Amino acid sequence: MATTTKTSSKSPATTAGAAAKKTVNTKTKSSAKPQNKTGKMEDSEFHKFFVDELKDIYWAEQHLAKALPKMKKAATSRELAAAFDKHTAETETHIETLVQIFSLLDEKATAKKCDAMAGLLEEANGIIEETDKGTMIRDAGLILAAQKVEHYEIATYGTLKVFAENMGHTEVANLLAQTLENEKATDVTLTEIAESFVNQEAAAE
Ligand code: FE
Ligand code: FE
Repeated sequence: MATTTKTSSKSPATTAGAAAKKTVNTKTKSSAKPQNKTGKMEDSEFHKFFVDELKDIYWAEQHLAKALPKMKKAATSRELAAAFDKHTAETETHIETLVQIFSLLDEKATAKKCDAMAGLLEEANGIIEETDKGTMIRDAGLILAAQKVEHYEIATYGTLKVFAENMGHTEVANLLAQTLENEKATDVTLTEIAESFVNQEAAAE
């Protein structure tokens, strides 16, 4: 009985998969983008949702670019200040990359308020207010706030990259993947700074 179930569930799926692959291969010669019922990917609800989410992260990056110099100014250690400085420049690149993505998609580069980033940046401000200048507790707090931001960006770019792949926007997916890798690297740098001396010194204060 078990063998019968296994064979019957496996074989139609394999056949369907192979058939689907064949159809896509012959169809995609003229257009790389999958099409919905109306015939145009750009008209699909999913595509509109995707563009909307790009506008959201565009707003987030723009506001982060303004907040990072303030975080740099508030940092105690040279190492953390340098990391914020570096990521300010990288964030400007993320913004330029998004502009490029909007242009590839033939969409206007407009920002839509990202409530999550607004909240995360408010939290970063709160940490600056609650900690004393020149302390390592300040840096430990700033790293916490910055890593929350990076993780938010990692989640966003990771998902948007997969959406782009699903829709056949290969170039857009590659650009999103680049930014994603940069956000991950920033997160690693922040962990290294925290673990090399900040947390230890903060505990001793
Ligand atoms: Fe970014
Ligand atoms: Fe970032």
